[in-house]
Amino acid sequence: MMKKTLIYILFLGLPLTGSQHIIAQESSYQQKINLLDKENKAISFDADLKLSDAENALDKKLFQFRKEFLTETENQKIPLYNSSFNQLKPLIESSKLFNIIQSMPKGGLLHTHSGGITDAKWIIATVRKYKEGYVYVQKDNDQYIFGQIAFFGKDNVPAGFVSIDEKLSSDPGFEKQLQELLLLKRDQLCSYTDYWIEFEKRFKRTGSLLSYRPFFKAYYQKGFQDLIKDNVQHAEIRFIFDQLYDFEHGKYPLNTSITDLQDILKEIHKTAPQFTLKLIYSSFKFLDPKGVDKQLEAAFQLKKEFPDMISGFDLVADEAAGNSIYSFRESWMKLDGLSKKYGVGMPLFLHAGESNSVFNKNVLDLTLLNNKRIGHGLNLIYFPKTLELIKKQNKLVEVSPISNQILGYVSDMRNHPARVLLSNGVQCSINSDDPGVYGYEGLSYDFWVAFVYWELDVKALKKLVYNSINYSSLNEKEKKEAILYLDKQWKDFVQKMNQKLN
Ligand SMILES: [Zn+2]
Repeated sequence: MMKKTLIYILFLGLPLTGSQHIIAQESSYQQKINLLDKENKAISFDADLKLSDAENALDKKLFQFRKEFLTETENQKIPLYNSSFNQLKPLIESSKLFNIIQSMPKGGLLHTHSGGITDAKWIIATVRKYKEGYVYVQKDNDQYIFGQIAFFGKDNVPAGFVSIDEKLSSDPGFEKQLQELLLLKRDQLCSYTDYWIEFEKRFKRTGSLLSYRPFFKAYYQKGFQDLIKDNVQHAEIRFIFDQLYDFEHGKYPLNTSITDLQDILKEIHKTAPQFTLKLIYSSFKFLDPKGVDKQLEAAFQLKKEFPDMISGFDLVADEAAGNSIYSFRESWMKLDGLSKKYGVGMPLFLHAGESNSVFNKNVLDLTLLNNKRIGHGLNLIYFPKTLELIKKQNKLVEVSPISNQILGYVSDMRNHPARVLLSNGVQCSINSDDPGVYGYEGLSYDFWVAFVYWELDVKALKKLVYNSINYSSLNEKEKKEAILYLDKQWKDFVQKMNQKLN
């Protein structure tokens, strides 16, 4: 009996003497819970932000809208957590929240690719305007695949290609078919396809179009306008450089891409003077170290010529199939020497950890390199020491939620690894990666997904938006101007939304 009493005291404290004691215990328990809650929040990525009264008022409204949306979908038995983005897209578009997020200023888009900015419908409609536009209509072979679109001079059309305009006019079902061939969809979360093989086929079908100079200009004009319409003020493109050409002059030097983009920007600035652009020179992970050395040299040459346009260097492609970042260590060791030779720095913006596997160790290299931002970083959560270092080094993870689902890395968006990063204080930004291939434009869909599935509040949204400018490659002067513009846009947005939603 003595022993039992002792155990009782050890575990539960002194024997209860009355209700007062229970109240005291409860209050101390409550205090401890509150403290733990505070301590957890203090680690979060947005802990340094304080919202204004107006922002807090908007936050309450958005919280309510999300609650209503979730209740409504539950009442209608819509499987929100077991459906893919493609299945839910019409529902997203019809939600009040989407409208609000569309009018939210989004700062910069830090992670997108030259081949995936503009939508398939527009590509088809534009290519058919050129008499040199053709489409491949035979079975796949080593060189071409069904639905591949390209420009040819009329005397050099390879067998199997037909005029795209004639084909679309004579075969009414072909436009829809071609559109589907240019898009990557994950129709059902349980269906498995080899996403990367299908993904790369999409790029192959449109890959050569961008070197045709007239198309190149139209493509970026359209891409930038889509971003501006979606309240994006800055873009950084992982850019694959290729010599532009046309049928009158043949090939142009490599830097024509940049001077043409500068001309397009001048045009854009007439109506959207705030819009800024940086290019991240990108090559491929499947090259060998010698190939990467050559690409680095080319990147340095361009950056020396256009220091305000080229911000850094990246290697892209499926990480499971390509070479590891570590395998290029000798190339990375040459960066300092090259910087001295060309008189410009070359920060890295490597894709790393776009994987669910612990055997992909690409994120380890990032803490040793001048890698300012990380593309995806999905498996970073399995490397806690590296995660801690990334946080200490103040590097940002570029998160692309929809891309991650379509390429099969995440199914239920509530379980996206970025949530772990954010709550652990790793800075992130929201990105669209290759929206043209995924069948949408702009950045609102990705923000919608993050807001709804990750239970974000206005504070988190604001921090993500500001991160996209604070961690951009804009120089100090440009950044100052960008922040001034964003401050004003953000204030306007909060004020207008509060009025509208009252
Ligand atoms: Zn990417």
